[in-house]
Amino acid sequence: MDIFLPFMLDNGFSKGAYIAADKTIADMVATRHYPSVVETVFGQMTLLALALSGNIKYNGTFALNVRGDGPIRRVFVSVTHDKKIRGYADFDADNLPISDNPTNADLFGKGQLLFSVSQVGQEPYQGVIQLTQHTLTETVLDYFRLSEQIKTDLVLRCYNHQYRCLMLQEMPRQNNLTVEEQNDLWETQTVLMNSVQDKELFDEKLTPQDILFRLFHANELVVFKESIPEFSCPCHRSQMEKFLKSLSSQERQDLYQDGKITVECQFCGNQFTFSKEDF
Ligand SMILES: [Zn+2]
Repeated sequence: MDIFLPFMLDNGFSKGAYIAADKTIADMVATRHYPSVVETVFGQMTLLALALSGNIKYNGTFALNVRGDGPIRRVFVSVTHDKKIRGYADFDADNLPISDNPTNADLFGKGQLLFSVSQVGQEPYQGVIQLTQHTLTETVLDYFRLSEQIKTDLVLRCYNHQYRCLMLQEMPRQNNLTVEEQNDLWETQTVLMNSVQDKELFDEKLTPQDILFRLFHANELVVFKESIPEFSCPCHRSQMEKFLKSLSSQERQDLYQDGKITVECQFCGNQFTFSKEDF
């Protein structure tokens, strides 16, 4: 299942999203053959990119990027405003962690999580989060708690190549509740969200709407129109050609093998071949 389903609770006290991205992730890894630990991290990054980009208004590209000095050197995922997704992972296959629940340190060593928003005609916006906590999810939650001071909670689950996420975020205060009442309501909502069972999230007979209703039927749940994330790579021969033409002829010379230069798109695996006549 692939869906981004936004919802709102308790008259706009908080907003959230139910996210599934099975085919999107399967399509992205189809030509890449990632080991399972890398695929899991890649799936988590895809869910986080969808969750984080889904909460902001933009017309362009949101990118989430983890970089470190550990066995996984880099994972990059980008999401356009209309939920076209692409990404890749760069890793050292011989030194991947074997534990079932690897920490950020096991996977990335010392590293950072970076996010950016690029929009046509605007300066790109960038943020950097140090990877300090045990998981990527905890790193993101720390960021919202410490830097943005926005109450946020996330549930991320992966099972048998299926990927699910629930996100909840408190909206700016516009209600008559006391601080204590707000804290209580937030506590109630997050306890309900975290009560979701794997057997519900991965039950093919339950729709996302069913699951949200089970969790939040006492919280004036309002579900909005869904959008469908999908893998899409806009790479084109002309971009590769432009890049190769930007190199010096000596630099280009070094790339020839058997009289040809072959460039592979890191996102989709498409190969583009050039010969001397192209330049
Ligand atoms: Zn491509």
